[in-house]
This record gives sequence, C-alpha cells and structure tokens, in this order.
Amino acid sequence: MEKTAEVVIIGGGVIGVSIAYHLAMKKAGRIVLLEKGQLGEGSTSRCVGGIRTQFSTEINIRFSLESLKRFERFEEEFGVNPEFKRIGYLFLATTESETEVFKENVSLQKKFNIPVELLSPDEIRVRWPYLRMDDIQGGTFCPWDGYAGPSEVLSGFANGARRAGVKIYEGAEVIGISLEKGKVKSVRVGEEVISASTVVNAGGPYAASIAEMVGIKIPVKPLRRQIFVTAPFHLTNQTIPLTIDFYRGWYFRQEVDGLLISGPLDPEPSFNLNIDYEAMADASENATYRVPILEKARIARGWAGLYEISPDCHAILGKIPEVGGFILANGFSGHGFQHSPAVGQVIAELVLDGKANTIDISSLSIERFKKGDLILEPMTAFKE
Ligand SMILES: Cc1cc2nc3c(=O)[nH]c(=O)nc-3n(C[C@H](O)[C@H](O)[C@H](O)COP(=O)(O)OP(=O)(O)OC[C@H]3O[C@@H](n4cnc5c(N)ncnc54)[C@H](O)[C@@H]3O)c2cc1C
Repeated sequence: MEKTAEVVIIGGGVIGVSIAYHLAMKKAGRIVLLEKGQLGEGSTSRCVGGIRTQFSTEINIRFSLESLKRFERFEEEFGVNPEFKRIGYLFLATTESETEVFKENVSLQKKFNIPVELLSPDEIRVRWPYLRMDDIQGGTFCPWDGYAGPSEVLSGFANGARRAGVKIYEGAEVIGISLEKGKVKSVRVGEEVISASTVVNAGGPYAASIAEMVGIKIPVKPLRRQIFVTAPFHLTNQTIPLTIDFYRGWYFRQEVDGLLISGPLDPEPSFNLNIDYEAMADASENATYRVPILEKARIARGWAGLYEISPDCHAILGKIPEVGGFILANGFSGHGFQHSPAVGQVIAELVLDGKANTIDISSLSIERFKKGDLILEPMTAFKE
C-alpha cells in the first residue's frame, strides 16, 4: 500500500468512487480509495436506482440536473451502459395539503424548465387505469425521471478511476485518522499508515463513526428500508412509471418481469439488514390498496438497506472548520445514487480549486446545523 497520497477517500460506495474518478480527472495527484469490504457492499448495492428531477428544493434540483446530464452520456464517458430507463416518476396526492405542495413543487421545477405535468384525477385514471383512484386528488408526472443500475454506475466510476491511476483497496478498513496542528496527517489501515493532507469521508451510513476518528460528531443516522420484489407479474402493456403514493410513503416500479414494491422505513436508527414478515405484510397491504390487482401477485424476494439520514434529509458536503483537510460527502438521505455524478464533480472542485464551482454547496455545509439553517422542505417525507 502507498505510504503517501494527496487524497485518501474512505468508503467505496457510489459516492467514494465518483469522487475518486473526478479527482483523478482533475489530476489531483496520488489518490487512494479504501473500502473495508467490497466496493458497493454498503447502501449502493441495496439501492433501487431511482433518478428524478422532481425535488422540492433548488439545491436538490441542481444536483439532479447536473447528474442527469452525466447519466445521459454515461456510456460514452465510461464505456459502461448504466441501464438508464426513463420510465418517469408519478407522484400521487391523496390530501389537500399534498396537492398544494405538489403545485408549489411544479412551479419551482418549471423554473428549471423541467417538463413536469400537474395532473387531475381524471387524467391519472385514463393514463394508469390499474390504480385505485377513489382517494386520489391529483398528481405530478415527469418523463425525464427513471432509474439506472447501481452496480453498472459504480463499476463505471470505479473502472474510470482505476484507468486514471486511482489505487483502490478492498478489505481495507480505516481504523484511525491522525491529526497534526488541527489538520489531517494520515490514516491507519491495520498496520499500514498512509500520509495524506486531504481525507474524504464517503462512509455512507457509517459516516458518523469515521468522523469520530477526527473527534467530530456528524448527524448522520442509519435507517433501514426494506424492499420486496414480486414473482413475474403482468400488470399492463404500457410503461409503468415509478409510482409514489406520497401519503403512504410507498412506491412501486417494474423490476424485470416482476414488480418492485417498497416496504417500510424504520423510525429508529440501526444497522439491522434483516427483512421481516411485518414489513412484507406492510408492503403487500400498500400494494393491494393502491393497485388492487396486485392481490394476485406473489412476493418472491426482498432485501434491506440503510439510508444515511441527515436531520433535514439533505446532504452534508464540504469542509469542517475544526479539522483542516477533512472533507464530508455524507447524509444523502436516500438520494446519494442519483446525485453521485454531481457530488463527485463538486467535491473534486472543492479539493483542488478550494471552492465548488458547478453548484454552490455552501447551503449544504455542516455548519447549518449549528446555525439552525436547516433546509426544510415539505417533501422530506419521501425517500426512494
Ligand atoms: C433500500 C434503498 C433504496 C434506495 N434507493 C435509492 C434511489 O432510488 N435513488 C437514490 O438516489 N438513492 C437511493 N438510495 C440511497 C443510496 O443507496 C445511497 O444514498 C448511496 O448508495 C450512498 O452511497 P455512499 O457511497 O455514500 O454509501 P455506501 O454505498 O454505503 O458506501 C459507503 C462505504 O463505506 C465503507 N466504509 C464504512 N466505514 C469504513 C471504514 N472505516 N473504512 C473503509 N471503508 C468504510 C462501507 O463498507 C461502504 O461500502 C437507496 C438506499 C436504500 C437503502
């Protein structure tokens, strides 16, 4: 293993490998990425790959639009087909307050020229006749949205990073970070020590434990979400959008020949990755409520993953005042996959140019929690 590097990245999920790739493309010098297990084994491999422009804050929309451009030409840039399927996202509102929020979202999204449609119940009924409609008050649909393959995107970034000279180590758990005069000096992996003046925390749901190694607390908690997939089931010949029953916090989409349906999000933090019967029952109840014909479907498999939740469900990006050279790329709150291209870009700019130029990330600084400048949005309730 290298004895010195310009930048060490801790964490080999989609965020870590994207940062590694973007740093290497900007010629950041020796870059080492350390992953305690295998690349992608954290949240990235458990993610459902959703990509959407339908966010309700400007900062998230900017990250989406920047990332979307990259997903569109991913194969050209990385030589890997990201399997980006533009099926659209359909949000369903069942209360008046949701309808109001959706209207506000659409007017914000339209300012960015996003082709989102505000739909009446009749329009939804005609376009997606398999949905239960008696309580639907309206919805929004955007054809730009869809999903891509997390492992394809991860391997695109990782291969690109390797080709550009990044050293990637798997089975390399960082167990300590040493400081000198308030700045990072080195990281320890077993008996190995790598000196570096910049260390990036890309630890996903483990971000808080990595931050503790430099003596700081960051408010990122792991919350389990369970996902289930039905056995092959023919619902319709039409394209099925990723459909979100906003009130129920439930969604579904096509997954090969079956349907992927979301289970519950745990209210309390844990690192539990088991799936349980109650969650499957909850997922089935929501599914048969909103799409009654799914009573005939059979659940074939499922898995659980961890969201890396911040207090306002927005990412925590950038430097920290207490420790020089320690950079945070954490707290994506269920949106890290879709924003990974832009995150890699802005963190590379921050490290090399001292400032993120593509998107102003100052509102995502960890300082916001001390100052009480949380980014509040009515849609935080929904996470893929
Ligand atoms: C069920 C589910 C569905 C999701 N769906 C979507 C979606 O549709 N769209 C979307 O955009 N996002 C989605 N997400 C969120 C998305 O998966 C995450 O935001 C994203 O994967 C975060 O990537 P990451 O690289 O930060 O974290 P991870 O992929 O968790 O990577 C962090 C890595 O750090 C490693 N690590 C931790 N500690 C150390 C250490 N001390 N030393 C070395 N390595 C260490 C871990 O092993 C891990 O591999 C979903 C998440 C879940 C759980």
